[in-house]
Amino acid sequence: MNFLEEKIATDGRVYEGNVLKIDNFLNHQIDIDVMRQIACEFKRRFKGVQVDKVLTIEASGIAIAVMLANMYDVPVVFAKKGAAVTNTDDKYISQAYSFTHKKMNNVFVSRPYLTKGEKILIVDDFLADGKAFGALIDIVNQAGGEVVGLGVAVEKGQQNGGRDLREAGYRLESIAIIDEMDDKTNTIKFREQR
Ligand code: 5GP
Repeated sequence: MNFLEEKIATDGRVYEGNVLKIDNFLNHQIDIDVMRQIACEFKRRFKGVQVDKVLTIEASGIAIAVMLANMYDVPVVFAKKGAAVTNTDDKYISQAYSFTHKKMNNVFVSRPYLTKGEKILIVDDFLADGKAFGALIDIVNQAGGEVVGLGVAVEKGQQNGGRDLREAGYRLESIAIIDEMDDKTNTIKFREQR
Protein backbone atom coordinates (compact mmCIF):
# COMPACT_ATOMS: atom_id res chain seq x y z
CA MET A 1 0.00 0.00 0.00
CA ASN A 2 1.23 3.52 -0.69
CA PHE A 3 1.24 6.28 1.96
CA LEU A 4 -2.25 7.51 1.09
CA GLU A 5 -3.82 4.05 0.99
CA GLU A 6 -2.33 3.34 4.41
CA LYS A 7 -3.63 6.63 5.78
CA ILE A 8 -7.11 5.96 4.37
CA ALA A 9 -7.10 2.38 5.72
CA THR A 10 -6.24 3.69 9.19
CA ASP A 11 -8.26 6.89 9.40
CA GLY A 12 -10.99 6.63 6.73
CA ARG A 13 -14.61 6.09 7.67
CA VAL A 14 -17.03 4.57 5.18
CA TYR A 15 -20.59 5.86 5.18
CA GLU A 16 -23.76 4.61 3.55
CA GLY A 17 -24.16 5.74 -0.05
CA ASN A 18 -20.57 5.05 -1.07
CA VAL A 19 -19.13 8.02 0.81
CA LEU A 20 -15.67 7.98 2.36
CA LYS A 21 -14.80 10.51 5.06
CA ILE A 22 -11.21 11.47 5.59
CA ASP A 23 -12.01 14.54 7.63
CA ASN A 24 -9.07 14.24 10.00
CA PHE A 25 -6.43 14.76 7.29
CA LEU A 26 -8.08 16.25 4.20
CA ASN A 27 -11.71 17.32 4.35
CA HIS A 28 -11.84 19.20 7.64
CA GLN A 29 -8.50 19.11 9.43
CA ILE A 30 -5.62 19.20 6.97
CA ASP A 31 -2.51 17.14 7.63
CA ILE A 32 0.29 19.12 6.02
CA ASP A 33 2.65 16.16 5.85
CA VAL A 34 0.08 14.10 3.93
CA MET A 35 -0.62 17.08 1.62
CA ARG A 36 3.12 17.42 1.01
CA GLN A 37 3.37 13.74 0.11
CA ILE A 38 0.37 13.99 -2.23
CA ALA A 39 1.95 16.99 -3.96
CA CYS A 40 5.34 15.22 -4.27
CA GLU A 41 3.64 12.19 -5.77
CA PHE A 42 1.83 14.30 -8.40
CA LYS A 43 5.08 16.11 -9.20
CA ARG A 44 6.77 12.74 -9.70
CA ARG A 45 3.96 11.31 -11.84
CA PHE A 46 3.69 14.42 -14.02
CA LYS A 47 7.47 14.70 -14.46
CA GLY A 48 8.36 16.54 -17.65
CA VAL A 49 4.89 18.06 -18.05
CA GLN A 50 4.87 21.84 -18.38
CA VAL A 51 2.41 23.45 -15.98
CA ASP A 52 1.50 27.15 -16.04
CA LYS A 53 -1.29 26.99 -13.45
CA VAL A 54 -2.92 24.53 -11.10
CA LEU A 55 -6.72 24.59 -11.16
CA THR A 56 -9.03 23.09 -8.56
CA ILE A 57 -12.50 23.58 -7.09
CA GLU A 58 -13.34 24.86 -3.62
CA ALA A 59 -13.01 23.75 -0.93
CA SER A 60 -10.96 20.62 -0.26
CA GLY A 61 -9.00 20.65 -3.51
CA ILE A 62 -7.35 23.91 -2.50
CA ALA A 63 -4.96 22.41 0.03
CA ILE A 64 -3.62 19.90 -2.49
CA ALA A 65 -3.43 22.51 -5.24
CA VAL A 66 -1.50 24.98 -3.10
CA MET A 67 1.09 22.41 -2.05
CA LEU A 68 1.57 21.31 -5.64
CA ALA A 69 1.66 24.81 -7.12
CA ASN A 70 4.28 25.72 -4.55
CA MET A 71 6.52 23.04 -6.09
CA TYR A 72 5.96 24.33 -9.62
CA ASP A 73 6.07 27.93 -8.38
CA VAL A 74 2.92 28.76 -10.37
CA PRO A 75 -0.44 30.27 -9.33
CA VAL A 76 -3.42 28.29 -8.08
CA VAL A 77 -6.87 29.12 -9.36
CA PHE A 78 -9.83 27.63 -7.56
CA ALA A 79 -13.24 27.52 -9.17
CA LYS A 80 -16.02 28.80 -6.96
CA LYS A 81 -19.44 27.25 -6.50
CA GLY A 82 -22.53 29.42 -6.48
CA ALA A 83 -26.22 28.77 -6.82
CA ALA A 84 -27.23 31.80 -8.83
CA VAL A 85 -24.54 32.88 -11.25
CA THR A 86 -26.10 34.21 -14.40
CA ASN A 87 -23.81 36.97 -15.66
CA THR A 88 -21.25 35.34 -17.94
CA ASP A 89 -19.63 38.61 -19.06
CA ASP A 90 -16.81 38.37 -16.57
CA LYS A 91 -16.80 34.64 -15.77
CA TYR A 92 -16.40 31.23 -17.30
CA ILE A 93 -19.32 29.18 -15.98
CA SER A 94 -20.10 25.50 -16.01
CA GLN A 95 -22.34 23.17 -14.01
CA ALA A 96 -21.61 20.15 -11.85
CA TYR A 97 -23.95 17.90 -9.92
CA SER A 98 -22.54 17.52 -6.42
CA PHE A 99 -22.22 13.88 -5.38
CA THR A 100 -21.97 14.74 -1.70
CA HIS A 101 -24.65 17.46 -1.52
CA LYS A 102 -26.98 15.97 -4.15
CA LYS A 103 -27.60 19.24 -5.94
CA MET A 104 -26.55 21.06 -9.08
CA ASN A 105 -23.91 23.73 -8.59
CA ASN A 106 -22.78 26.48 -10.87
CA VAL A 107 -19.02 26.44 -11.03
CA PHE A 108 -17.18 29.54 -12.15
CA VAL A 109 -13.81 31.21 -12.60
CA SER A 110 -13.40 34.92 -13.24
CA ARG A 111 -12.06 35.50 -16.74
CA PRO A 112 -8.77 37.22 -15.86
CA TYR A 113 -7.50 34.14 -14.03
CA LEU A 114 -7.41 31.80 -17.01
CA THR A 115 -5.80 32.82 -20.27
CA LYS A 116 -5.71 31.36 -23.78
CA GLY A 117 -2.83 28.96 -24.31
CA GLU A 118 -2.09 28.30 -20.64
CA LYS A 119 -1.17 24.75 -19.69
CA ILE A 120 -3.41 23.72 -16.82
CA LEU A 121 -3.01 20.86 -14.38
CA ILE A 122 -6.35 20.14 -12.67
CA VAL A 123 -6.39 18.53 -9.21
CA ASP A 124 -9.05 17.61 -6.68
CA ASP A 125 -9.52 15.56 -3.53
CA PHE A 126 -12.06 12.99 -4.77
CA LEU A 127 -13.19 11.67 -8.13
CA ALA A 128 -16.55 9.92 -8.18
CA ASP A 129 -18.76 10.41 -11.24
CA GLY A 130 -16.39 12.97 -12.73
CA LYS A 131 -18.78 15.93 -12.69
CA ALA A 132 -16.38 18.28 -10.89
CA PHE A 133 -13.51 17.44 -13.25
CA GLY A 134 -15.90 17.73 -16.20
CA ALA A 135 -16.89 21.27 -15.17
CA LEU A 136 -13.25 22.31 -14.66
CA ILE A 137 -12.25 20.89 -18.06
CA ASP A 138 -15.17 22.74 -19.64
CA ILE A 139 -14.00 26.00 -18.05
CA VAL A 140 -10.40 25.52 -19.28
CA ASN A 141 -11.75 24.85 -22.77
CA GLN A 142 -13.89 28.00 -22.65
CA ALA A 143 -10.77 29.98 -21.76
CA GLY A 144 -8.78 28.42 -24.61
CA GLY A 145 -6.35 26.74 -22.22
CA GLU A 146 -4.88 23.27 -22.47
CA VAL A 147 -5.54 20.55 -19.90
CA VAL A 148 -2.15 18.88 -19.47
CA GLY A 149 -3.24 16.46 -16.77
CA LEU A 150 -5.73 15.52 -14.07
CA GLY A 151 -4.61 14.54 -10.59
CA VAL A 152 -6.83 13.25 -7.82
CA ALA A 153 -5.99 12.03 -4.35
CA VAL A 154 -8.80 9.45 -4.14
CA GLU A 155 -10.58 7.93 -7.10
CA LYS A 156 -13.66 5.89 -6.29
CA GLY A 157 -13.30 3.20 -8.93
CA GLN A 158 -16.81 1.81 -8.44
CA GLN A 159 -18.11 5.02 -10.00
CA ASN A 160 -17.37 5.73 -13.62
CA GLY A 161 -15.73 9.16 -13.59
CA GLY A 162 -12.17 7.86 -13.83
CA ARG A 163 -12.96 5.37 -16.58
CA ASP A 164 -14.79 8.02 -18.62
CA LEU A 165 -11.99 10.58 -18.31
CA ARG A 166 -9.34 8.03 -19.33
CA GLU A 167 -11.48 6.91 -22.26
CA ALA A 168 -11.81 10.55 -23.30
CA GLY A 169 -8.01 10.64 -23.56
CA TYR A 170 -7.09 12.61 -20.46
CA ARG A 171 -4.04 11.72 -18.48
CA LEU A 172 -5.50 10.99 -15.06
CA GLU A 173 -3.29 10.17 -12.09
CA SER A 174 -5.04 8.87 -8.96
CA ILE A 175 -2.90 8.27 -5.89
CA ALA A 176 -5.40 5.87 -4.34
CA ILE A 177 -8.12 4.04 -6.26
CA ILE A 178 -10.87 2.42 -4.23
CA ASP A 179 -12.51 -0.57 -5.86
CA GLU A 180 -14.83 -1.55 -3.03
CA MET A 181 -15.86 -0.22 0.33
CA ASP A 182 -18.29 -1.48 2.92
CA ASP A 183 -19.94 0.82 5.43
CA LYS A 184 -21.01 -2.12 7.64
CA THR A 185 -17.47 -3.36 8.26
CA ASN A 186 -15.58 -0.17 7.37
CA THR A 187 -13.40 -2.15 4.95
CA ILE A 188 -11.83 -0.52 1.91
CA LYS A 189 -10.30 -2.42 -1.01
CA PHE A 190 -7.74 -0.60 -3.14
CA ARG A 191 -6.88 -1.25 -6.76
CA GLU A 192 -3.33 -2.46 -7.37
CA GLN A 193 -1.30 0.26 -9.06
CA ARG A 194 2.18 0.22 -10.51
P1 5GP B 1 -17.73 13.87 -8.83
O1 5GP B 1 -17.95 15.24 -9.35
O2 5GP B 1 -16.52 13.20 -9.45
O3 5GP B 1 -18.96 13.01 -8.91
O4 5GP B 1 -17.44 13.98 -7.28
C1 5GP B 1 -16.27 14.60 -6.87
C2 5GP B 1 -16.55 15.66 -5.85
O5 5GP B 1 -17.50 15.21 -4.89
C3 5GP B 1 -15.27 15.99 -5.09
O6 5GP B 1 -14.96 17.34 -5.34
C4 5GP B 1 -15.59 15.75 -3.63
O7 5GP B 1 -15.67 16.98 -2.96
C5 5GP B 1 -16.94 15.10 -3.60
N1 5GP B 1 -16.91 13.66 -3.25
C6 5GP B 1 -17.30 12.63 -4.04
N2 5GP B 1 -17.26 11.47 -3.39
C7 5GP B 1 -16.81 11.75 -2.15
C8 5GP B 1 -16.55 10.93 -0.99
O8 5GP B 1 -16.72 9.71 -0.96
N3 5GP B 1 -16.09 11.58 0.10
C9 5GP B 1 -15.87 12.93 0.12
N4 5GP B 1 -15.40 13.45 1.26
N5 5GP B 1 -16.12 13.74 -0.94
C10 5GP B 1 -16.58 13.15 -2.07
